This record gives sequence, structure tokens and C-alpha cells, in this order.
Amino acid sequence: MAFVSTRGNAPVAQAAEVILRGLAPDGGLYVPQSLPQVPLAEIGEMRDAGYVAWAKRTQDFTPSTLGTAIETAYSRFNRPEVTPLVSLSDGAFVLELFHGPTLAFKDVALQLLPHLSRLSKEMTGEARELFVLVATSGDTGKAALEGFVDVPGTRCAVFFPEEGVSEAQRLQMLTQPGSNTHVIAVEGNFDDTQTGVKRIFQDADFAKKMQASRRMLSSANSINFGRLAPQVVYYFYAYAQLLSRGVVQLGDPAHFAVPTGNFGNILAGYYARRMGLPIGRLICASNANHILADFMETGVYDTRRDFQKTLSPSMDILISSNLERLLFDLADRNAETVRGWMASLRTDGRYDVGEERLRQMQGLFLYGWADDEATREEIRRVYGQTGYLLDTHTAVASRVLAAYYRQHEADHTPCVMLATASPFKFGRDVLVALGGEGVEEMDDFSACEALASRTGLPVPPQIAALPTMPILHHTRCEKDGMEKALLSVLP
Ligand SMILES: *Cc1c(COP(=O)(O)O)cnc(C)c1O
Repeated sequence: MAFVSTRGNAPVAQAAEVILRGLAPDGGLYVPQSLPQVPLAEIGEMRDAGYVAWAKRTQDFTPSTLGTAIETAYSRFNRPEVTPLVSLSDGAFVLELFHGPTLAFKDVALQLLPHLSRLSKEMTGEARELFVLVATSGDTGKAALEGFVDVPGTRCAVFFPEEGVSEAQRLQMLTQPGSNTHVIAVEGNFDDTQTGVKRIFQDADFAKKMQASRRMLSSANSINFGRLAPQVVYYFYAYAQLLSRGVVQLGDPAHFAVPTGNFGNILAGYYARRMGLPIGRLICASNANHILADFMETGVYDTRRDFQKTLSPSMDILISSNLERLLFDLADRNAETVRGWMASLRTDGRYDVGEERLRQMQGLFLYGWADDEATREEIRRVYGQTGYLLDTHTAVASRVLAAYYRQHEADHTPCVMLATASPFKFGRDVLVALGGEGVEEMDDFSACEALASRTGLPVPPQIAALPTMPILHHTRCEKDGMEKALLSVLP
């Protein structure tokens, strides 16, 4: 598969190069020149296929060893289905993407990406160690550590803001074993941490040191196409499950509702649709930072607004970087048009894609948003009516979906809601939503135990074990001392 940049000023690149590089050299994002197609007849034939079979069918990356990599990656999920499809009520389904090692959907991609990186190194003859640097606000850091741990020829260092992550997230990272993993706490907030990592990436002196120690810096965030590709799989798998259970006939559409932040997850759905999957509409659900919902309503992407801290922190984003890949298609793959919009974003904080493209976009996507109050109400409503416990991110999608069906009673298309985190990862807020008493006095772990006894669901072992696990990383640094701290932990 060959790739071009959304900004149009980079040479055509092959998959292996794209995965190692992340960002295109002209600052754009790599997009496939054309997408492989999965014919409807084949979807029908594969209706009973498992997740791993779907992963092998949809990952267009040549080495034969990829099959083994896929098996290894998804054997670390604690459900045989990998991403189980749960029936919620008539025609409404939940696709649980959170049964990986860190209990959030980032595992689906970050368990496979390190293997893709390793294979890419072999294919390109890259002999240096791949050194992945991550600044995290919580979920991505731990998922990257779990993905890269002990993968030969790779190393992963994560910086997290001491002020920015929950107690469970902090312990998840500090207890990370492995000889190629490093975790550093930064005295500051997420912005300080992210700025510091960007500075390290741009520092010529640091680059020289890495060159001398034969290391190649890389990134594991969702601008890397290697993180998007593994996410296409579960859309196919979920549709096949609907077929297999007789919920849809071959070729009938299904909607998908996606809690959205950086636009990665939902973009994978859009690619699945372009690969031939009969997706009806993709429902883009935002929280109180509803810049995407507004964009889909008006065609104007306007960042001139305040950032809100919400109950769904992994969706608290004002610049959705993956949106640029959709823009490229909306612009009929004209990079000059995309460059114009990006320039306008830089100078004016906004861009306008115009009436015609707006209509085109509205034909593909539905949209909506829910604030914290609505999110809590939704968790309570769904638990009360179905006994199913949503996390704070998934509840946003559920709320937007429920509003859509209320307004469109004639639409009987089945819908799959993507569940992106275990409710226990945000146990305290979920317990508050259910009206739990005395939550203020509890620490995060007691809140999870209270949630478990309230609902009869077990606390996931990854969380239950945390308070007694040994702390393996002790390095802290000031926001101006990140590079020095990093050099001090490297072997
Ligand atoms: C990252 C994340 C999201 C947002 O996904 P995008 O691909 O950035 O749109 C939603 N929910 C959870 C729990 C996440 O970790």
C-alpha cells in the first residue's frame, strides 16, 4: 500500500516507512493512495469469522509474519472474542473495546503497533533502536508501555504530568515492568509535558546523542497510520456479528456511534465504509468540547473557544488532528485546498469548508454532544433500564444516539455503540452518576469497590492489583529538566 501526504509536498511512501515516521516530512498526515476493497460476498462468507481472522483479512501489510504478530497482540485481551458485541436492547448493541491490558480502546491499536514497527524496521533495514517518546494525559501512556514492553529493538519512554492524571492512571504507569520501558513524572500540567516532549523532538543536540547511541526517535500517537489501521478491523468484525446473529441481511446498513476526541476511532469507521462495509451513518459524539459537532452542523471549524475539563477527559480536545485526513477526501484529495484550510486555522483559528462539502459530510455523519450533566443522566438511565454499566466516554455516544432515535422514529437501522473504556477506569465518576453516597470520602480504589458491590460486577484485576504492586519508576523532574531526566534513565 502506498501513501501520500495530506499537504501534498512529500514523496509517495510505503507502509513500513509511514509507520516508522509517523508524520509526513511536509507536516501533513499520511493517507493511503487507495484503500483495499472487501467485497460484500466475502463479508457474507466471513460472517462467522473471529476477530483475528478479520484482522488478518483487513491489514494490508505484506510480511507473512504479520499473522503471528496479530495473534500475539490480541491474545493479551481477556475475552476470546477480543471485542465482544453485547446486545443492549432491540437493535442497539455495544461493542466492548476495553478488554485489553489497560482497559481502554487504545490497546486495540497499541498492542499491534509495536509489532508493525518491528516488522517495518526489518523491511526497511533500519538497524537503530526505535525509541518511542510519549507525552500522556492518562490513557495513551500506559497503553504504549504495555504495547512496547519487551518488543525487541524498541524502547518506550512516557512523560506524565503529576497534576494531570488520576491515582489509578499514575499507579498503572509507575508499576510498569520491562527492561525497555521508562516512566517520568513531570512537575507541571499536560501542556507543560507535551511542550517538553515536542522540544526534545526538535533539539538538535539531543538528536546527535540519539544518533551516537543508534536510536531513532518515533511517536505512538494517533497521527501515525499504524494506529488507525488496526481500528478498521472491529467495524468489520461487529458487522459480521450482526450478520451472523441475523440482525442484518448482507448489504443492509448498520449505524455506528463513536465517542470522539482526536477523530481517530471514527475515521477508522469512515475508512471501513470506503473499503466496502455497509455502514449507514457514523455518529460523531462530542462532550462539552463540541467543536466537531459544531463543524458538522455548520461547516466551520472554529477553535476560538474555551477548553472545558469534563468527565470524559480522553475527549477533551480542541484540535482533532485526524480530521485532516477526512478534509483531504472532502477536498477531493486536493492538497492545496487542505493547505489553505490549515493556514487559515493557524492565522485565524478557524476555517470554513463551504456549503457543498458540508452537505457531503452530513451525508456520511450524524453528530451531537452531551455535557457532564447529560452524561451522568445517561449512565443512570441506561443502567436503570438495561442493567448495563457505561463509562463516562461511552455514555456520551449513548446519549447522542438516544436523542437521534427519539427524533427519527422511522429509522429502524440497528446501531453499534463503541464502548471505549471500562466503567471501572472512571469508577468514581460512574458511581457518582448512579447516585452513590459518601463518594467524596473515598479514594479511587474504594470507589471502585463500592461500584462493584453496587452493581455486582467485578473490579478488573488490573485495577484491583494496583495498590499492592511495587513502584518501579522513581524519576521526577521539573518541566525544564525533562531532557536531562530522560538521559539519566536511558541505559
Ligand atoms: C482516546 C479515547 C477516546 C477518543 O478517541 P479518538 O480516537 O481520539 O476520537 C474516547 N474514549 C476513550 C476512553 C479514549 O481513551
